[in-house]
Amino acid sequence: MEIKAIRGFNDVLPAEIGKWQFVEKTAREVFEGFGFSEIRIPILERTELFSRGIGEATDIVEKEMYTFTDRSGTSLTLRPEATASMARAYLEHKMYSFDPVAKLYCFGPMFRHERPQKGRYRQFYQIDAEIFGVANPIADAEVILMLIHFLKRVGLENLELEINSLGCRECRPRYREELKRFLADRAFHLCQDCQRRLQSNPLRIFDCKVEACKEAISEAPKVTDFICPECQVHFDRVKEYLGMAGLSYLLNPRMVRGLDYYTRTAFEVVSYQLGSQNAVTGGGRYDNLFQEIGELDIPGIGFAIGIERLISLLPGEKEFVKYPHVFVAASGGGTQKRAYELANQLHLDGIRAEADYEGKSLKSQMRRADKLKARYVLILGEEELNRGRAVLRNMGDKSQEEIPLQDIVDILKDKVKQRGKETF
Ligand SMILES: [Zn+2]
Ligand SMILES: [Zn+2]
Repeated sequence: MEIKAIRGFNDVLPAEIGKWQFVEKTAREVFEGFGFSEIRIPILERTELFSRGIGEATDIVEKEMYTFTDRSGTSLTLRPEATASMARAYLEHKMYSFDPVAKLYCFGPMFRHERPQKGRYRQFYQIDAEIFGVANPIADAEVILMLIHFLKRVGLENLELEINSLGCRECRPRYREELKRFLADRAFHLCQDCQRRLQSNPLRIFDCKVEACKEAISEAPKVTDFICPECQVHFDRVKEYLGMAGLSYLLNPRMVRGLDYYTRTAFEVVSYQLGSQNAVTGGGRYDNLFQEIGELDIPGIGFAIGIERLISLLPGEKEFVKYPHVFVAASGGGTQKRAYELANQLHLDGIRAEADYEGKSLKSQMRRADKLKARYVLILGEEELNRGRAVLRNMGDKSQEEIPLQDIVDILKDKVKQRGKETF
């Protein structure tokens, strides 16, 4: 029996990979320009990192984690998100002892056992960026500016930034009680999950997709009416700094984040690309996370972008697939060895060259070059080779010219650059 991939686990094939590489390359350029450094963290962590960091009463910890006991009896979990692991690494390596401020980003797969849907996977990829060690609202604005700049650089247009404040440990409990009181009268309208959430984590009801729950919560009090003066000042500053950076925003008091550790600033970016509305990404501040997983009180703010979702929104006209620059075609006799030598030389110079491995006829090599969408074919004929020359055929306009082989690298580099889309 043929072995297939696990449900919800997806292959990214070569035809798609150009988009992934483009997104990752752009993220690196933008984030490093903002002074962020890449960090690579393990995929597997102790389960309590997530149950304490993300919070027991969240969907992720309650029902979506890939948790198992390893051979030494330790409970381990495939990371469902990256922030808790990055915070763990910051504490474990005492990064704060060098400088309290750490600006970090990472790419990689996350794992959640959700119901598979179109475009949603159980292994999915995220780009994460975090600033640890800064309570000042400047950091909130900086992270948001970087995010918007990145999204524009990959080609998303019609973006809308929504922000909210979720309050802090002092003021959020008051709001939570208020919300509970408000919803208590309407509890019988709520779905089963939300009836449970009403006790454990009522803010999560805002995320429920069930129509009756949306209805029940539509008139609920707003969190921003309950935040303490310190949180209000913080929120006002965030707005001021966003304005200074030239960013406009919408206030969305219904936006809460699914994870327990968020405090104060929460944000989401919505794209209206192609007429439809898509939440691209979100993030926020989490000043309590470090206390949940360690001893230190360290503020943090950041965001996570789902790469699959982002890629589905990229403009279509960009060329991401890397076709061969040239196919080196031998035409019998001693020309195949010469084709091998030339292909090697081109590879060493960074020119994407393909050649025949099977001793096929010239006609069938031309067919293959066409199928691979090679831009040029270098046809090696015995007679031309004796004169140190070969025929270069442009597969686009079908023109041909004879060129000296000693200049082949320069000639091809020139031609490919002229197309304007390629750099070596
Ligand atoms: Zn507060
Ligand atoms: Zn519900």
